[in-house]
Amino acid sequence: MVLILNKKKVITLISVLSVFFLVFAVLIDTNLHIEVFKKHKADNLNMYLINVSLNDKEKILKCSQNITYVNKTGKNLKKLYFHIYPNAFSKEEYAPFEKNEFKKAYPNGFSKGYINIRKVFEKKYNLDFKIVGEKEDILEVDLRCNLKPGEKTNIYLEYDVKLPNSIGRFGYGDYTINITNWYPIVCVYDSRGWNIKSYEEIGDPFYSDVSNFDVNINIPKKYKLATTGIIKSKKLNNDYVLYNVKGNNVRDFAFILSDKFNVISTKLKDIKVYSYFFDEKLGRESLQIAKDALTVFSDLFGEYPYKTYSVVASDFFIGGMEYPNLVMIDKTLYKRNSKFFLEYVVAHETAHQWWYSLVGNDEISEPWLDESLTEYSTIIYFEKKYGKEIKDRLIKNLKINTYRKSNKSVFKSTTEFENSIDYSLCVYSKGALLLDDIRNKVGDDAFFDTLRKYYKQNMYKNVTSEKFINMWKKRGVNIDKMVYGNN
Ligand SMILES: [Zn+2]
Repeated sequence: MVLILNKKKVITLISVLSVFFLVFAVLIDTNLHIEVFKKHKADNLNMYLINVSLNDKEKILKCSQNITYVNKTGKNLKKLYFHIYPNAFSKEEYAPFEKNEFKKAYPNGFSKGYINIRKVFEKKYNLDFKIVGEKEDILEVDLRCNLKPGEKTNIYLEYDVKLPNSIGRFGYGDYTINITNWYPIVCVYDSRGWNIKSYEEIGDPFYSDVSNFDVNINIPKKYKLATTGIIKSKKLNNDYVLYNVKGNNVRDFAFILSDKFNVISTKLKDIKVYSYFFDEKLGRESLQIAKDALTVFSDLFGEYPYKTYSVVASDFFIGGMEYPNLVMIDKTLYKRNSKFFLEYVVAHETAHQWWYSLVGNDEISEPWLDESLTEYSTIIYFEKKYGKEIKDRLIKNLKINTYRKSNKSVFKSTTEFENSIDYSLCVYSKGALLLDDIRNKVGDDAFFDTLRKYYKQNMYKNVTSEKFINMWKKRGVNIDKMVYGNN
């Protein structure tokens, strides 16, 4: 995510804005070496088959879901845990927004969102389940018998999802319906056991395993659909259209609807890049930005392995938000006189396709891991596209803004930061400076070579800070102090 509306971030961006006008666009060399990755083996991934139908009047999703869960924990499992994020919107005190954001998040006053789990089956047997978690946003399911390591099971669920009238990640506004973090998604089991943390207000509080998705989306025909994955078929049935969408090797599945979208697309090799927007001029710009960002990051870090990428203008007051193959961009950014803000946010969210979507991590315990790389990748995008001068100015601004945080650790969980400004300065800004420091120490060749290996070795997986830190130790750079700070 990139928060562009908090005061500090706006100050950061405004201070670099003047720089932007001094810079001439120099097209980058797109003929750099592209690594070809072996096709990822998908047969041991969890598989989600979901049927979802929108009741437009009530803003309720009627859903059924079959998940084939593969036990890769190495342990016998008696229970399974799912995040049911919509319940974090069920009460005002749970809503994942800071207090000063409430009016922006709910322009028409607080509006409830929730999930109502109606049935949980394993084969034909009813399973006991309970709703747990600090925000009632975890579903605990008792399996009928022990699931041994390596075994698979099929869990069938029926549920309804109520969308709130909210313009954060999840909900609807006047222009778009944002259907994100909406279905029961299995929690990650790692060396610490089950990760069953709630949907907190600071950061992107998500952590998931790469899976396969086959989703039937039934929506009124007036809506255009922006989605994770590839639309395989489209059938008109009276006033509804049924889409079949397949998303393979993705760690989440999101879609956005609007009856007002303009849609344009272009090809980048075999990737279809889309821009969904409302304002003509910057909508077209955003398609070019997305294409340029995919090119820069593919050349530097390794190939983008999916066939689609969509940049979607949305009712989303926070700035930008990443999902696999799809990013949400605050639609008001398309109306600004300068394209800088839009370019910054689109480049940032596109970088998340590498750092979050392909190389995943626990974004609650170790948010710096994807955000610092993403923020620094954004700066690299500007450097490669517009020259070193803008990069130097962006770095200088980060140094000025983080001056008072020089001893602060970037390594904290999202819940340990004072507020989103503190979070943003430590995790994004200090994190990006840390990477710039490493780059200066090891030189460009070793820096990008190490990141390319990091990407190649960890794509479709989850990584930890330890792994990242050790990788640089092998290159002769100890970043412990920079990461952990003095407090
Ligand atoms: Zn981000």
